[in-house]
Order: sequence, then structure tokens, then C-alpha cells
Amino acid sequence: MLMNTKIIMLQGAMDLETELLIASLEQPQEYLLGKWRFVEGIYKDKPLVIAATSIGSANAAAATALGIEHFHPAAVINQGTAGGHDPALKAFDIVLGKQSFDASSYRTAKEEQADWQHMELMGAYAYDPQEKTFLPQSVYYAGDQKLLEAAHKAASDYTRGKVVDGCFASSNTWNRQKERIRYLHEQFGSSCEEMEVHSAAQICQQYKIPFLGIRIISNTEFQDEEFQPESAKACQQFVLKVVQNITY
Ligand code: SAH
Repeated sequence: MLMNTKIIMLQGAMDLETELLIASLEQPQEYLLGKWRFVEGIYKDKPLVIAATSIGSANAAAATALGIEHFHPAAVINQGTAGGHDPALKAFDIVLGKQSFDASSYRTAKEEQADWQHMELMGAYAYDPQEKTFLPQSVYYAGDQKLLEAAHKAASDYTRGKVVDGCFASSNTWNRQKERIRYLHEQFGSSCEEMEVHSAAQICQQYKIPFLGIRIISNTEFQDEEFQPESAKACQQFVLKVVQNITY
């Protein structure tokens, strides 16, 4: 249906993180690739494909690779909810991914007792085009500059909270220990945590497809805020505004 047009892939993990995007599409067309659901359609003259990745890094990586192979998107945005790491962030604030890292990829110091603070980040094994094999690559992946600029343009119309540039700590964990959260924020610069951004970024980096993570704070220990499902909707509305500012 949309051959020869530049399609943008928008990803979300949970149904509540994709349902508004899917409902916004005209001429929606459903696909099942492996076990992952994709819905292609048009939003205000822009071709989009919404990927329902499910939760966690393996699901996000698989859905990203399958989606890229099938739809050949010009850009990928991984969006949804996240838990605050920066104590200044409140629920409904939005973080734009200047960078991300895998918070589960670390090596500890050699010591008798468990002291989780003595660790160095290792980064991920990713394909190295020079060496033609998988090697440990950079710890941080950067968000695409043009996509970031498109998101900045949408920021002035967002009224539910702040929009900040920041860094995602991705891993299959839900962290409620303030001391640990504070450590990740201060040591590695994380603004918030979630489970999908960095693995999707890694796959996009390997395919050389522009990528950006956009996450809304749905919960934060520092403000004593529990998970707020409504925030997922606000994030999707913001992402639809961002998409309008992307020119390919
Ligand atoms: N809160 C939901 C379950 C969410 S599971 C519930 O209680 O039913 C985790 C999903 O939410 C992941 O897709 C992740 O990206 C996102 N997420 C939101 N806040 C998070 C946090 N504090 N830590 C980790 N993931 C978080």
C-alpha cells in the first residue's frame, strides 16, 4: 500500500503505550511478523507503522529487526513510560533520548562482599563492519540529531510537564531502591529507567537507521509517584506531534 514512501516506525511495549497511536491511523493494515503485531497506516498524510513490541529488551530487539526487514523505515522512535532517576523529574515530564545505555551490562570489582556500586559498564556486543564480526561496542548509543530537533520543536506545545534531553538506563529491571537509582543517575548520567530503548537503539545502529527514544515519566520514587497509566497516552500524543516535524 505504501511502497516508495518513507515510513516511520513508532514502537511501544504495552497495549496502553500503543493503543492511541494505532487508533489514530487511517487505512490501518495489520501484520503479524513472528509473534509481534504491527499496524501500518496514515496519520495526517504521513505513513507510519506502529510496532507492539511487548515488554523487555529481547522482545524490543526482535520486533525492531523484524520491523526494519519488513517495512524499511526511514526512522524509528521507541516511546512509552519510564521510571524517574533524575530527582528533578516528575510524572508526565518527557525525556528525549540524547543517549542510552544497558544498565544490566556491567562488570563488578573483585571483592568478597556484594557492593553493587563498584561496577563498570560494558556495553553490548554489536556488529562491527570493519572486523565483520560481533564485538563489544560503545557503552552509550546516541539519539539521532534530526529526530531530536523534531522533538524539540514539539516541546513548546507540551503542557503536562517539562520536556528535557536526557539519558535512558535500559534493563529488564524495575528499580525501587533510591540509593541505587541515585547512584545510576550520578555515576552514569541516567535520567530515567525503562526496558526497551537501548536494545532497539542497538539494532537501529546496526542497520544505520536514525533512532530516538521518547519516554514519559510514569512513576518516580523521588516524588513518591506510583505508575500512572494515563501518562502513556500523553506520551503518544506528544510523539504524534513530533512525527509532524520530521521531514524526509
Ligand atoms: N507498571 C506495569 C508493568 C510495567 S512493566 C504494571 O504494574 O502492570 C515495565 C514496562 O514499563 C516496560 O515496558 C518499561 O519500559 C516501562 N517502565 C515504566 N516504568 C518503569 C520503571 N520504573 N522501571 C522499569 N521499567 C519501567
